[in-house]
Amino acid sequence: MPIYEKLMGNPFVDAGVCGICEWLGRNVQPEQITTDDLERVVNNVAVMMQTDAGWNNLYGIFPNGVLTNPSFNKCKTVKCKIPNRCMALNASYSKCNRVELFKNECKGYMDKISELQQAGDCMGCGRRNANTWLSRTNVPLTGGKNSNYFPVFSEGAGYCAACALAIQMSPLVYMGTAGKYLTLHSNSWKAMRSWTRVCVEDIRRQQLQKDITGCFNPDYKNPRNGMFYMARKMTQYQEMRTDENISIQVYCWTNYNQGPELEIFYMPATVFKFLRNVYQSGFNTAWQEIVRSGYLVNWAKVKSEEDYKNRTNRVYENLLQDISILGFFLNRRHRKPRGNWELLSLYLKEVRTMEPTQLEKIKQVGDLIAKCIEKSGRDRRLKQLEGAKSYSECRNILRYVIRDRIEQGAPEPLFSIDDYMEYLFPASDNLNLTPWRETRDLLLFRIYEQLHNWLQEQGYVDYDEDNTTDPDDTSQEED
Ligand SMILES: [Zn+2]
Repeated sequence: MPIYEKLMGNPFVDAGVCGICEWLGRNVQPEQITTDDLERVVNNVAVMMQTDAGWNNLYGIFPNGVLTNPSFNKCKTVKCKIPNRCMALNASYSKCNRVELFKNECKGYMDKISELQQAGDCMGCGRRNANTWLSRTNVPLTGGKNSNYFPVFSEGAGYCAACALAIQMSPLVYMGTAGKYLTLHSNSWKAMRSWTRVCVEDIRRQQLQKDITGCFNPDYKNPRNGMFYMARKMTQYQEMRTDENISIQVYCWTNYNQGPELEIFYMPATVFKFLRNVYQSGFNTAWQEIVRSGYLVNWAKVKSEEDYKNRTNRVYENLLQDISILGFFLNRRHRKPRGNWELLSLYLKEVRTMEPTQLEKIKQVGDLIAKCIEKSGRDRRLKQLEGAKSYSECRNILRYVIRDRIEQGAPEPLFSIDDYMEYLFPASDNLNLTPWRETRDLLLFRIYEQLHNWLQEQGYVDYDEDNTTDPDDTSQEED
């Protein structure tokens, strides 16, 4: 029986197991890990993973641990606070050797590792019986002196030695964020591995350059934006098939002595799948434009990404809260689409589960309206459609377009009554939804896509296109 398996369910343990595997090699799987491997990883990592070496954010992960508690550093040999474990007693150290203490602690766990069973009461794997009682000194957010943080007021929790050891290696896989940590968990082992690769590569780089700074930290103080950064980095590896249903959870936490915290963010499989398609199908640039329009920021004052990357992003917020981001695909000020119909369809199909037939019908009607507007030589109908404030107003404008088309001698009707009922303005059970607005915005998107150049030539877009410093569209206020 192996020591570890994929996805045992506890985010800290799974993070640790992922980190151990990745440290051992790109293709190493949990089932292959032996105690010799574990010893190798511990010997490698322990030297780096200490505050003396520069891993300063360890204080928020394992406070009071051998690597962080100052009392382990103040040994004067004669009055040592930890005489039983003090290395100074049997070696020529002038103070406690924390690295050795940490290795000893890990060795203690290794000696107690038993075979994986069918079931057990370990909080990490549920596959072995707990033989180690750990507080938050060794497992984040697990009781300790603040026992009210943990159920039944217990001062810790029971883990098996294998899980206890995995957790000690988990900082390899945490993303630092403004004094807190982001820990990724997923229903997909491959997804977790691809994120682990990003973190471990950074730590190996630190090791090579002899400049240890600690957990991978791309400086995202806003955890939601950090989560989308994670998703983007994960999708750069192709091994995840785009038809897999991968959802991700991100735990944002600190384990500081003063006020441990925990916040959980969930990205549904539909959103993750959409993002994977975006990044793997060459929609990068268009998507970045849409994301940028979601920042509430004065672009005139922006000098670099640092100036906005931690601000609230409405595109991200909406995606996490299942609110439509359709409005962000429209650059109303410049009468221009952000992205193309293909990208918009991808979003609507994957995330909003819109039927392809409905999309196709709206596209056709959009094309016909665009032609009619172009033929009329004026942007009057477009202006009216943009300004429609109610369903009846929107319906009226479509009636005007139908009339215009008859006058222009169009051979076929704008749409049939069935199309109207089924696809353009289908009945909705949810009275809070305003499907007419969604349909109107889709029509506008298509018209902008077809007519943007013409509108510019005709002087109906009198804004400087390159001037992105204007406050952007007002789509949100309308909602
Ligand atoms: Zn366990």
